[in-house]
Formats: sequence, C-alpha cells, structure tokens
Amino acid sequence: MRMNFSGKIAEGYVRTSSEANPAESIPNQVRQIQDYCASQGIILQEVLVDEAETGVLSANRDNYLKLKSLIKHKAIDIVVVNFASRFGRSMDEWIVTVEETKKAGIEFISITEGLIGSEMNAMQVAMAGVSVQLENENRRRACDDGLRNAKAAGKFVNSTPPFGYRKDENKYLVLYEPEAIQVRLINELALARHNGAEIAKILNERGFRKASGAEWHSGHIYKILRNRTYCGIIHHLGERVKEPFSNERIRCTPIPATTRRHPAIISEDTFEKVNLLLSAKPKISKSIKIHLLSRILYCPECGARMIADDRNNRYVCNNHRKGISQCVGLKIGDIEPKVLDYLAQKQKDNCHSFDVADDVNVSEDKERDELLAARRKLNMKFVNLQMSAEVYQSEVHAINVKIQEITLCQKKYDIFNTDCNDYQHLINDHKALNKKLRKDGMKFSLNKDKEVIQLLAVNPT
Ligand SMILES: [Zn+2]
Repeated sequence: MRMNFSGKIAEGYVRTSSEANPAESIPNQVRQIQDYCASQGIILQEVLVDEAETGVLSANRDNYLKLKSLIKHKAIDIVVVNFASRFGRSMDEWIVTVEETKKAGIEFISITEGLIGSEMNAMQVAMAGVSVQLENENRRRACDDGLRNAKAAGKFVNSTPPFGYRKDENKYLVLYEPEAIQVRLINELALARHNGAEIAKILNERGFRKASGAEWHSGHIYKILRNRTYCGIIHHLGERVKEPFSNERIRCTPIPATTRRHPAIISEDTFEKVNLLLSAKPKISKSIKIHLLSRILYCPECGARMIADDRNNRYVCNNHRKGISQCVGLKIGDIEPKVLDYLAQKQKDNCHSFDVADDVNVSEDKERDELLAARRKLNMKFVNLQMSAEVYQSEVHAINVKIQEITLCQKKYDIFNTDCNDYQHLINDHKALNKKLRKDGMKFSLNKDKEVIQLLAVNPT
C-alpha cells in the first residue's frame, strides 16, 4: 500500500558528480523531482542544488547543510532525492541523516530506488547505506581514473590553461603567441637576475598585461617561472612530504604525467637555470615578520591578547591558541586598515580638539586586571593537576564572559596626548608603528558594532 503524501510540503535535493551521465544532469534531476511531486500531489517548496565534485568531505555542500538544518528544525514534511547516494556520501553519513530525518518526523523519499524512509526498518537503512557507500566509491574512482587517463594522454585537465597557452577542442595545449612572448621575456629577465617585482615592473611599463587584463605582480611572475608546463610536457604536481628531522614539508620533484609533448615555450635548460637562481634566493623567515597589531590587539570575544597567524591571515587570541576558547579571530586584511583608519581619524580629531572622555571607568580596568589574574591562577591550578578539565573549562568560560562584558562596554577612550604627526609619519612602516604603539601602551579591540575601540592604557612600558 502506497502512502498518501498529498498536500505535504517537500524539499528536493540535487547533487551532481563530475561524470557526464545525462540522466544525472542537474536539470534532469530537478525535472524528475518536480514530476514526482506533481504526480503525488506533494507541494514542492524548492529544490536545493549542490554542484560539487565527487569528494567525500562536507565542504562545498552548502545546500546539503541547509537541508540538514531544515530537517533539524522540522521546517518540511518530506525530503525528496533522485538517488539515495545524494543523501549521504558515506555509509555513516547516510544512516545518521536518515535516522535524523525519521526522528524529526520527516519522510525521506528516493525516487530511483523507490525508497521511503518510514517503510524501512533499521536493517534496511543499514543495507541501503552499504550500497550508497559502494556507489559513491565507484563514482569517485571512475572520476579519478578518467582524469588520470586524460592526463596520461597529454590532455590538460585543469580548467584554465597556463598563461601562453590555449586548449584546443581535444583539450591539448596549443601556443598562444601574444602571451607566449611574455613568458619568454619573463624567463630572459629572470636569467638576467631580475627579481619578480622588477620583472613585473618592466612588463607593465612595456604595456604587457596578464590574461585578465590586470597588471603583473611578482607573485604571478614566480608562478610562471616555476611552471614546468612551459617546457612542453605536463607533469604531475610533486607530492608534499616531510623532510626527515624537520617539520618542513617539501615538494618532491614533479614527474611527467604523459609522454605526449605540446609546444614548448622555453627550453628545459632555461627552466632549470631559472629555478636554480630562484632556489638560491635567501628566504625571509616568516617568524621575524612583525605585524602592525601584534601584542596590541585584544580579542573582542574573550579579551585575551592576540597575535598574528600568518598561515591563516588572521589575528588569533591566546585562549584560542591554547585551545581554551573557540574565538574566531580577526582577519588581518580587515582589522589592520580599520585600526589605521581609526588612528588617522583620531589624529585628525586631535588636531582640533583634545578632550579626554569624562566617563573613564578606572574601576572597570581594575576589575579586568583582576579577572586576568584569576584566569592565570586557574591556568596554574589546571596545569598542576589541581582541578579537573570540566571544572577548569567552566570556570575559565565564566571569567571569559565577564572579561568580554567589560571589554565590550568600555567606552571609546581618547588617550591621544601626543602631537598630530606622531603616528602619521609611521603609517607606512608597520614595524615602527607597532613598536611605537606598544611603547605608548596602546591597546585595541572591537566593540559589538565591530568598531575599533581603545582599551585603557596602563603603565606604558
Ligand atoms: Zn578570544
């Protein structure tokens, strides 16, 4: 006996894999869901679409996550998919999602297999999960094999061919002379020992531009100089491996992916010579890089001091680094201009009028210091095993909440007692500016409205 779904509200979910099976194309899947719902009298609210590759991770599945949220909040009556495998990539994920759906009282329908969630017992759900897993694995393997075969045949499988090339209708690289002459020039200049920035400048001055029409930058120049494809053969990117006795990961030498050659733009000899010059360059260690706001920025969420995390282009707080908090941190590219603007604005204001805010609450700052001291004490206790992780975490959390309250309600507070040009002339020298700001005891954070606020300066040292 078929169930009656008439008048129920459904959400469709569609996902493609990169293989080109027309039955699985997005428009076909969407149409199939629409037809099915129409035939059953189901009100189809919308069809969520994810155009993902066949990876296994949840990332880039925004609509899948949206679907899960709709299920969690019981915002729909039915979920409709074309293939059971669209409902989860692994067996675990599939089973969990079906169970969640059932628990929320929502029906699950997979059209092709004729699966209906409420009619399946636990064993059937598990069995279907096994076949979902197998199907997804096969699909992924087929996709990987396809790419590898295409590469082995000398085809360029990535979407955009390197600067200097175009793809012909068979996906082979062919020369594009207007760009190829620039690639040769870049290599010649590199052999003449110009660095990336100099090369970019020369190219821009001669009126050359990137494929996008934008000006050249040193980053693009190095990318071209390091690309072996210009020697006339496609390589697999070398695997990254850990060097013995070191945490540094180095890339192994790339190996040819094919025996088929495409037109070379530079010789292997040139490539090797240029890359020898590049690798001989002294590398600037990232650890000595000084950031504008290192040690003077405070976490808007927990009040802890923040330092720059170069790898992720963020300032992160010490609590996060220790794994005590889940603070998200601040993007370097967002917060630095904000603080510079703030400084510039203050500088301007300061030239006209200088008024220290009346409502400075010194007691707040004292309270904050006390809380910080209490937190340090807790840290010590925890480290010395005098308290359990649970107690520690809840107490630290309580303190963090209090610090946050104080931080957020702290008024914008003028402590500019220096003359107008003091910071202005340093604005382009982040290292010197950082040093000066630290010396002046400046502390910055953000309020609830994400505006820059200054925390009270205590004993500049
Ligand atoms: Zn924090």
